[in-house]
Amino acid sequence: MQKIDYICPRMGYKKLILKSGRERSLVNRHPWVFSGAVKVLPEAENGEIIEIHTNHKELLGYGFFSPNSQITCRVFEFCDQEIELNEAYWIAKLQNAFGLRKNLFNPNETNCYRLLHAEGDFFPGIIVDVYNEVAVVQVLIRGVEQIAAVVYKGLNQLGFKYIYLKTKQTTQLLEQVEQGSRWVAESCPMPIEVLEHGVKFHVNVETGQKTGFFIDQRENRKLVAEWSKDKTVLNTFSYSGGFSVYALEAGASLVHSVDSSRDAIALCDANIEKAGMQHKHQSFTEDCFDFLKAAGSDFYDIIILDPPAFAKNARSVANAARGYQNLNFLGFHKIKKGGLLFTYSCSQHIDKDLFRKIVFSAAADAKRNVRILKQLSQPEDHPINIYHPEGEYLKGLMLLVD
Ligand code: SAH
Repeated sequence: MQKIDYICPRMGYKKLILKSGRERSLVNRHPWVFSGAVKVLPEAENGEIIEIHTNHKELLGYGFFSPNSQITCRVFEFCDQEIELNEAYWIAKLQNAFGLRKNLFNPNETNCYRLLHAEGDFFPGIIVDVYNEVAVVQVLIRGVEQIAAVVYKGLNQLGFKYIYLKTKQTTQLLEQVEQGSRWVAESCPMPIEVLEHGVKFHVNVETGQKTGFFIDQRENRKLVAEWSKDKTVLNTFSYSGGFSVYALEAGASLVHSVDSSRDAIALCDANIEKAGMQHKHQSFTEDCFDFLKAAGSDFYDIIILDPPAFAKNARSVANAARGYQNLNFLGFHKIKKGGLLFTYSCSQHIDKDLFRKIVFSAAADAKRNVRILKQLSQPEDHPINIYHPEGEYLKGLMLLVD
């Protein structure tokens, strides 16, 4: 275990002062201080913990300073009295987060989940995903890097002896973390076998996308399974075949998985083989748009559209909207009469109303009768801080298409 070199600076952090009239969102506990709202910057280093004050010198809370980002400070604690940010403070945050997850899952059925969800757990700049005995930590800002040793200690106390630090940036957030991905404590041989609703998957946290698996789709995969018996299923943007394995185990007659990444398809094939379902499955290393264009329009009973985030930032929303529109149009065009389309967006910058409008417009262009059977979102281990609507990044629709 790495040496713990975190030194609590006790009280007296440097102060950021907000412009008069710009404290509203902070008073309402939105955890981001935008650069335009700052009257006086603290003389602090990138990553330092700072105090946030109103123009009237009232303390609003504490956050991590990011002078080079548009989000100048990310608040992790709202309070009007000084508090001690010692080791116990950070470890308590982890324990609270773990307490919620312990109540959510039966470990005999599901042992991969998100343990810490940044702002959703009042801990901006960090994500921790659990794969059985392994905790994968993604540090997204310098501020968290400064206290990483305490986080590792806290995870160790929760029983994780295998901790992997993943530095590959998968969000549009933030500054680059300096060191490379590595095992922080003991290393665990790859791949790891995990369970999700009793369904087995192999996950490689060292080489996989994100932290290894798209655990945010857990409940949506279960929903697809409930409708898959005797159905032909097209799983586009399949990655390691999450939706495909669920559909096959639930009795789908045939599943096609499509992904443009050769590595993703290799993972998908391995998971299908592990489930012993090769005879009902075919994978395609292809662009999903091209695949859909070439597909017949009377073949698939179920189509899943789960693309990567098309909108990486606010500027790319218009282009992204066109991408979702084209994709959904193809989905509507190719699905059988009476079929089910499961369509998702994980772009933080496209909210659920806009997504619904895009899907509406694609349905109208395809001239299909479409009904919403369910509106879908991220699961409970990806909690949404009510003051931080940006945290509601995953949205989906289950559609009946006549
Ligand atoms: N549904 C998956 C997660 C999808 S992640 C799951 O449940 O695990 C998005 C995937 O889309 C990635 O694997 C990426 O390789 C793939 N991808 C991105 N652009 C693509 C394109 N144009 N055509 C096919 N696959 C694409």
